Amino acid sequence: MEMFSLCTWISYVDFSSTLYLVINCINKAKHQCNTLKLTQICENHRNKYHGDFYRLYTDGSKDKDKNSGIALFDPQTNGYVKLSIDQNVSIMFAELIAIAEAIAYIKSLRSGKYVIMTDSKSALYHLARCISTFPCSPVAYDLIKDLYKLSNSDKIIKIQWIPSHIGIFGNEESGLAKSAINDDLYPLYSDCLYIVKSKCSDMWNVYLDERSLTKSMWYKTIQPYIAKSPWFVESTLSRSDIVTALRLQSGHIPLNGFLYLIGKINSPNCTECNLKEYLYHVMVKCVRNAVERSVLQVDLYELGKSNCILAYPLSEEAKMLYNIVKVALRRR
Ligand SMILES: [Zn+2]
Repeated sequence: MEMFSLCTWISYVDFSSTLYLVINCINKAKHQCNTLKLTQICENHRNKYHGDFYRLYTDGSKDKDKNSGIALFDPQTNGYVKLSIDQNVSIMFAELIAIAEAIAYIKSLRSGKYVIMTDSKSALYHLARCISTFPCSPVAYDLIKDLYKLSNSDKIIKIQWIPSHIGIFGNEESGLAKSAINDDLYPLYSDCLYIVKSKCSDMWNVYLDERSLTKSMWYKTIQPYIAKSPWFVESTLSRSDIVTALRLQSGHIPLNGFLYLIGKINSPNCTECNLKEYLYHVMVKCVRNAVERSVLQVDLYELGKSNCILAYPLSEEAKMLYNIVKVALRRR
């Protein structure tokens, strides 16, 4: 696992004069504002707070084919850098990479005051959360490390959020990220994790489809695909109900029919009804739980009815079914 180190506690890092997540007077969604007025507010804000700063504009984006790119624009020299990055990265990761490129560029410049303009508020919030010890993306920690080092140098850096695509000079030019086709940057593992999880899930489901043709057919009729997380994770069911539910779903329950099969007892029959004691018998026929079964008011004889109930393990019918089975087991 990749490790990150910082020469101070992260909670000691003070970015209150580095990250500018808002612009005063902009308190409505962009589509609710007059574009010309919005542009003027941004220009006034820049002149007031960063008027004598060296400006850089960054952008990260994805096109309709999911290609990802980043761009860095320097209006002082009219120069820009464009890079394509792996298509699997998130848009926020792309924005953070773009800011990292801007900082790398600033390192190569002489001492002075610099402001990085980005239209990604989410990337700035992500950086701010890292400082509050919230677990963040590795690229964000790298950024914090660089910003912290530079804060102790002869360079002053601010990162300012600006609204996107309202005609602010620099922001429109940096918005060329979609055409970036130069070097390749690869995503960090954490950005690709969801793809790996999705592929594993797909493979597991294919395996279940094939395997259930010869085994686990009972389970397949109840659970036709592999769930992303266990159904009982956030349930309020008792442990005993969950155990019963899992036994009913798998069909593996220590009844006489099963005990006889493995040579533990001499007869597979229910000692009360003298019929073969399998799961179906306990759920549908056994006299031990006839009273409790009548409360369910569902015709369990109907083909597939019990499987339908078990397919919704948190339903009221399913809970009554667990009770029916548990009663029969207790009275054996
Ligand atoms: Zn019975």
